[in-house]
Amino acid sequence: MTAITPVTEHAELTKLSLANQFAQLPAAFFTELQATSLPEPYLVGASAKVADIIGLSSAVFDDGLFTELFTGNQIIDGSKPLSAVYSGHQFGVWAGQLGDGRAILLGDIAAKNIADSANGRIEIQLKGAGMTPYSRMGDGRAVLRSSIREFLCSEAMAGLGIPTSRALSVTGSDQYVMRETPETAAVVTRLAPSFIRFGSFEHWYYNNAPEHLQTLADFVLNNYYPALLKQDNPYQALLQEVTQRTAKLMAQWQAVGFMHGVMNTDNMSILGLTLDYGPFGFMEAFNPNHICNHTDTQGRYSYRMQPKIGHWNCHALAQALLPLIGTVDDTQAALSAYQPAYQEALDHLLHLKFGLTPLSGHASADGKLFDQFFDLMQKNGADFTHSFRHLSHINIDKSALDDQLRDGFLDRSALDLWLEQYRQRLQAEQSNDQTRQHAMQKVNPKYILRNYLAQIAIEKAQKKDYSEVATLLQILENPFDEQAEHDDYAALPPDWARELEVSCSS
Ligand code: AMP
Ligand code: MG
Repeated sequence: MTAITPVTEHAELTKLSLANQFAQLPAAFFTELQATSLPEPYLVGASAKVADIIGLSSAVFDDGLFTELFTGNQIIDGSKPLSAVYSGHQFGVWAGQLGDGRAILLGDIAAKNIADSANGRIEIQLKGAGMTPYSRMGDGRAVLRSSIREFLCSEAMAGLGIPTSRALSVTGSDQYVMRETPETAAVVTRLAPSFIRFGSFEHWYYNNAPEHLQTLADFVLNNYYPALLKQDNPYQALLQEVTQRTAKLMAQWQAVGFMHGVMNTDNMSILGLTLDYGPFGFMEAFNPNHICNHTDTQGRYSYRMQPKIGHWNCHALAQALLPLIGTVDDTQAALSAYQPAYQEALDHLLHLKFGLTPLSGHASADGKLFDQFFDLMQKNGADFTHSFRHLSHINIDKSALDDQLRDGFLDRSALDLWLEQYRQRLQAEQSNDQTRQHAMQKVNPKYILRNYLAQIAIEKAQKKDYSEVATLLQILENPFDEQAEHDDYAALPPDWARELEVSCSS
């Protein structure tokens, strides 16, 4: 007897239908192509929150068709897959043409929540789905290790409330790809309203193609910044808005200790999103000079440098947009929005992190107080996340609760001196313990994606146990919640984790 297939089995997935907004750009902007199949793909991880953005329930994760579609083995209705061309500055040097060497844009779909997209559409992209005309020396593939890291970090950043591309799923296959050692291939499915980069603009500027430069700027304005079209000089307004978004994003990174690792202009989103997760890291023992990317020997993208590099990248975008904006003065004026936007965002975030309300006449003393805490963390090698989380536990009066924080600092008496000043400052605004602690715990995460946690999940997944990927995802979706049952995941890195190195290899 043949089994009767329930009619609902593929319904949600077969109803999926994509449009192709990016493909409306002239042919020079992309190459249409198909993903290269991977043999016998399996699902490694998937996010119900991201599925919900495109109107899918998590029930589809059990459907083999989901894995096929988001590995690139079958085509979604309406999809016109393509890879986009762009260029960029890599490590401060003009690198010429790059492009989607292993990313394939499937198309776009309505985003359920308008907060997920400015024009109500969200694009779906496969990363690691095979060679493209822009693959250069690469194989068009991504390995399981880096794909799990991108998947988890995208959703961890979303959980922290930081603008980012999202990750729907990771699928894997037993097909080998060669890196330092043989590893297995994987595909991450990413979502963002747009994957257009600073380098997409630089591409047309350096290729002396002013008409394409303008077409791209008009496309971005129309689709993502329609309000700016009303300004006298929309191109100047675009540069200013992107500059401000980038500055704010840098402040958000600094405030949680996130380090991107490869802030090349081809990895900078025109929407101000965190994009292209590679050798990223979260600060642990605080060291402003920390370099998370083993390949970055000069420390160009160290923690301390990120805000400066954000500005440098906006400058590179400004060079490319100058012909559209018209004058150097107008371009400079837009670019000059960077520093104030960064300072304002950082100052706001730091006040929140320290649980303080800005008071008139206190600005410079507050700045000193913050700097002294960062200095103490650095001198004592105190864990960034722990220090702020534990600071959120202390009371205005000395109590045993201080000890959690003090335990992280070798020089306790120096910390005690700082705490005295901090308490005076709390008194100056008659801070209420309960209200402040509640607010501080909403900005100072308990859980971040520590390299060692990702590593454990990766090693299990390499043995086909995906449970840790799912557990980490669940914890990191709510990084501010106590989740007492998961206390272990807030622990400091074990000794073996000191040897961990992350590089550009992915
Ligand atoms: P990334 O440093 O990951 O932002 O990559 C820089 C450029 O190299 C981009 O154009 C990528 O598409 C390309 N790329 C990186 N890895 C590969 C690969 N395995 N195959 C093809 N292109 C790649
Ligand atoms: Mg990239």
